[in-house]
Amino acid sequence: MYDVNEIRKDFPILSRTVNNKPLVYLDNGASAQKPQVVIDAVTKAYSEEYSNVHRGLHTLSNIATDNYEAVRAKIQNFLGAKHPEEIIFNSGTTEGINMISYSWGVPNLQAGDEIILSVMEHHANIVPWHFLRERQGVVIKWVETDADGGLNAQAVLDAITPKTKLIAITQMSNVLGTVVDVKTICTVAREKGIATLVDGSQSSVHMPVNVQDIGCDFFAITGHKLYGPSSSGAIYVRKDRADEMRPFMGGGDMIKTVERDCVSYNTIPHKFEAGTPGIVQMIGLGAAIDYLQEVGLDRIAAHEASLRDYAMQKLSKHNWLNIQGRTADKGAIFSFTIQGAGHPHDISTILDQRGIAVRAGHHCAQPLMQHLGISASARASFAMYNTTEEVDKLADALEFCYELLS
Ligand code: PLP
Repeated sequence: MYDVNEIRKDFPILSRTVNNKPLVYLDNGASAQKPQVVIDAVTKAYSEEYSNVHRGLHTLSNIATDNYEAVRAKIQNFLGAKHPEEIIFNSGTTEGINMISYSWGVPNLQAGDEIILSVMEHHANIVPWHFLRERQGVVIKWVETDADGGLNAQAVLDAITPKTKLIAITQMSNVLGTVVDVKTICTVAREKGIATLVDGSQSSVHMPVNVQDIGCDFFAITGHKLYGPSSSGAIYVRKDRADEMRPFMGGGDMIKTVERDCVSYNTIPHKFEAGTPGIVQMIGLGAAIDYLQEVGLDRIAAHEASLRDYAMQKLSKHNWLNIQGRTADKGAIFSFTIQGAGHPHDISTILDQRGIAVRAGHHCAQPLMQHLGISASARASFAMYNTTEEVDKLADALEFCYELLS
């Protein structure tokens, strides 16, 4: 049985109050709270086992290196990758996608080559491709969502032309919660020799992921949404694609030899990990992944699906609440505006007075906002520790907002 009250005890911050009300944390799509095991792992790494990694021949450096490198196998296992060296550490999905854009996109794409994006991508999966559009004439092709906010795999495949070189697509929208059938997209793309990048920043938190089953070339995750420390993350790079990539950042750790007039590079993954990394952040992410796997992604997904259904049933009763994204294949993420209520910032401010944390704004998804014909929305995004009582509190608070603001 999934005992959400027991899970909540693992997260110390959940017992605090905000504005004299028990905290209702519904901003998980932005960043999740941390269980005690992660906080302990970070504390231990700093207080007992800290040193730089890969460099020293002394005890502490060896311990820190072992702890840090052990996380690679944890993420390999978490994502179902074939080889540990296919996991490149970084500070999160933004860095991961920028790295692919520079390391793979720059040397492999030419003017006129096409990249397919969906209109619901996060800016982290848009702006790095705009760089290639601006600097080397790559063409971005957009796929729209349907009226319910769904994204049909076939619509993505229909956008393929002989010039398509990359499909970069999210597995779960951070605004609509829409889940995309990335496996179908990646399977067809592979048959056609088209590279695929899946933004798993949201999805990997809410469902089991297996990159070999999906068949993608690149898969990005975000540590701070996975209940791990901020500035932690990784990108999966399929081994044969790594051969097509040039290092993005130069510096320590990523080289074999450096001479006055030449340089040779380390092997993967270190070739793509220049400089002193987020040692403790990654150790904390390892603890978060252990924790998630202990609870079980399947059980988390089932719990969140019941929260989603409960919230949808409660919130869709109100015709003044415009919920964006009602497709059946949706995670527990609700973006909405209130009819006549002005800017969603007012909604989040009122909710905050009741201890309820939601986000308001464009959610780093301006092309989607333009597609929806709005400039901003409020967003309640649920996590493994949220409860149906919290959905009730949100629903009550939104009724209050409607009465006050409209
Ligand atoms: N992609 C999606 C779908 C996201 O929701 C986010 C963060 O909100 C990002 C990318 C950026 O991730 P990070 O914070 O790891 O850079």
